[in-house]
Amino acid sequence: MQLVFASNNKNKIKEIQALVSDAIQIISLEDIGCTEDIPETAETIEGNAILKANYVTSNYGYDCFADDTGLEVNALNGAPGVYSARYAGEQKDANDNMDKLLSELKDKTNRNANFKTVICLNLNGTQQLFTGIINGKIIDEKIGTNGFGYDPIFIAEGHDKTFAELSLEEKTTISHRGIAVQQLIRYLSKNL
Ligand code: IMP
Repeated sequence: MQLVFASNNKNKIKEIQALVSDAIQIISLEDIGCTEDIPETAETIEGNAILKANYVTSNYGYDCFADDTGLEVNALNGAPGVYSARYAGEQKDANDNMDKLLSELKDKTNRNANFKTVICLNLNGTQQLFTGIINGKIIDEKIGTNGFGYDPIFIAEGHDKTFAELSLEEKTTISHRGIAVQQLIRYLSKNL
């Protein structure tokens, strides 16, 4: 069967395809001819995942899943959260975002934060949400060159390296996205 992943990120699609059974073919937005920008206008991470999955199912008629992720910082009441990609502006630049976050946290002693991924799955007329959370802390300088986004300034609880110092495999084993994807895969293996 075919299942749309509401994304055009080839790395994410490859990663998930490698984890699901061969009986499921993961196809991208491009594969179904969806070239428009899907609105991500919700005020929560859950809301955006639902918006994206519902957009594909209602406009294109496919079973589909969509993900949305944010970094929630305790001392900033959960910011940047749903606005993580464009925290420092519409240019969506990772370095600018990290610089802004480090500057907001300059005088804060509470450095606790978490990444949260929500996956919304529309399958056979039902909707399921899967949530992956990893707790950790924001350090005060950028370390490491792997990964993307806020990886160089985030250290997961129980670890001493930033996400940007881990290999993709090491990161996926513990990450918010890895946890949510494992839940999705477990559900698909029982319900297909
Ligand atoms: P998206 O919903 O996966 O597009 O993620 C939204 C934003 O959250 C990204 O643009 C990044 O700024 C940040 N983000 C998401 N996942 C990660 C991650 O694994 N590491 C670091 N930053 C991330």
